[in-house]
Amino acid sequence: MLKSGYKKKIIAFITAIVLSFSSGTAMAEGVDNISVSEKASSTDLGELNYWYSNTDRISHWETPRRIYVHNLSTNDDFDLEKYVGFAIYQWSSKAGISCSLTGTESNHSIHFYGGLEDQLVEVGAFADCSHVNGKCHSTASVKGTYTYNGVSKTGKVTTYSKIVLVEKSNPRTDIAYSKTAAHELGHALGYAGHSLTKGDIMYTSSVHNTTDALTSQDINHLKQVY
Ligand SMILES: [Zn+2]
Repeated sequence: MLKSGYKKKIIAFITAIVLSFSSGTAMAEGVDNISVSEKASSTDLGELNYWYSNTDRISHWETPRRIYVHNLSTNDDFDLEKYVGFAIYQWSSKAGISCSLTGTESNHSIHFYGGLEDQLVEVGAFADCSHVNGKCHSTASVKGTYTYNGVSKTGKVTTYSKIVLVEKSNPRTDIAYSKTAAHELGHALGYAGHSLTKGDIMYTSSVHNTTDALTSQDINHLKQVY
C-alpha cells in the first residue's frame, strides 16, 4: 500500500511525463522533417545536381521503408490502401526509391494513418489535424553536408516516419487523396520543404498542383541522395 502523499507525487510525476511528451509532439505539427540530432557535421556528402526545395535540408533512408497502413475510417469509400498504393507506385516504381506495404503493426518504419480528424487525434497520431489534408513527421539525424551551387545543404538520415491522410466529411476525390498521399510519402522519404513549381507533387499544396504524377523535378530532387 502506498501512502496517499506518495501516490499524489507519483501521479504528478507521471502527468508531467505525459504532458512533456504531448507538447513535444504538438511542436512537431506542420513540420515535415524533425531531427533528433542537430549537431553540426563536417562530413562532406558531395555535390548535388538539382535543388527544388525552399529549405536547405534533405534526407534519405539507409534502412528499408516498410509501410504499415492503419485505416481508422469506417467509410468504405475512403480507400486508404488504394491511396497509399498510388503513392508507393509513384515513388517506388516511377522514381526508383523503394518502399513497400510490408510493414506490420510491430515491424514497420513508416506508419501511415488515415481517418477523420477526430479519429486521428484520438489515437494520438497528431495532436491537431485540422485544416490540413495530410501531415508527416520524421525522426532523422544529421549525416553531413551536401553542396549545391556553392550553397550548403544539410544531409540527414531518416529512421522513422509517421504520416496522416485526413478524411474530409465533405469528401475529396480519390485522385485528390492519392496526390496528398504521394506528397506526404515524399516528405517521409526525405523531401524536406516544398517545391516552388506549381506542377510538382511536392509543391506546397497538392490541391493546387496541376499534375497527377511525380514530375522529373520531384524525382531528381530526392533520388540524387539515394
Ligand atoms: Zn508538404
